Amino acid sequence: MGWRGLVVSDGGAVSRPWGVMGGTFDPIHLGHLAVAERARESLDLAGVVFVPAARNPLKDVGPMAPSEERVAMVELAIAGNERFRASRIELERERPSYTVDTLEAFHADGRYAGGGREDPVLILSVEAITRLPDWHRIDRILELARVAIVPRRGYPPTDAGTLEAVFPDRASRFLVLDGPDLGHSATEIRARVAAGRSVRYLVPEPVDAWIRGRALYGAPAPDGGPLSR
Ligand code: ATP
Repeated sequence: MGWRGLVVSDGGAVSRPWGVMGGTFDPIHLGHLAVAERARESLDLAGVVFVPAARNPLKDVGPMAPSEERVAMVELAIAGNERFRASRIELERERPSYTVDTLEAFHADGRYAGGGREDPVLILSVEAITRLPDWHRIDRILELARVAIVPRRGYPPTDAGTLEAVFPDRASRFLVLDGPDLGHSATEIRARVAAGRSVRYLVPEPVDAWIRGRALYGAPAPDGGPLSR
C-alpha cells in the first residue's frame, strides 16, 4: 500500500496515523466495524477512533436513538479490540458539530495524530464523496487529514478521474480502498427491529441485546425492564 512509505521512524519508534470514522451509528453495525478493520489493516493505521455525531436534541427521539444510547452501543461493539476507540467529542459540544472542529481538536492536543507527526485518515464511504466539496471548511479538513474512501453497495465506485475532477490538485490526499463490500445499513436495521425481525449477525451480539433491553427503534419493551447500565 502506497502510504506505508509515509510511516516515519523516530529513533526506532514507528509513528502511524490513526483512522477517524464518523457517523450517526444509529446503531453501529458489522458493516462499520468491517470497514474500520479493513482500513486499519490496509493502511497500517495505529487504530481507528469512532466519533458518533451529535444530532439536534429535539430530533433525537422517535425511530432514532438518543446520543447516549448510540455511544453506549459503539462502546459495546468495540470492547475487546484494543485498536478501536470511541470519542464523545462531538456529543460534548454545545454548538453544531463539524468534522473540521473534531480534526482541529485532535490536531491541537495530539490525540489520534500519531504523536503529532502523522495526519489522521478520515474514513468515508463513497456515498459521502459527491457531497464532500460542500462540507464545512473542506480545505482545512484536507490539510488536517487524508481521506480513505471505502466502497458501499449501491453506490458507484470512485476513481482517480472523479477525485481529480472534484478536488483538483488535492487528489493525492485521497486513497481508495477496495472493500469490504457488505450491504449493512443502519436504516435497514432500525426497520427490521421495528418490524419485530432479527438483526442477529447484522450487529454485534451485545448491541443486539442492548437494543432489545432498552427497547430502541420500536423493539418491544423487555419483560424485566431496561438493562442496568
Ligand atoms: P443510515 O442507514 O441511518 O444512513 P449508515 O448505515 O449509513 O446509517 P452511518 O452511521 O451513517 O451508518 O455511517 C457512518 C459511515 O459508515 C458513513 O461514512 C457510511 O457511509 C459508512 N457506512 C455505513 N454502512 C456501510 C457499509 N455497509 N459499507 C460501507 N460503508 C458504510
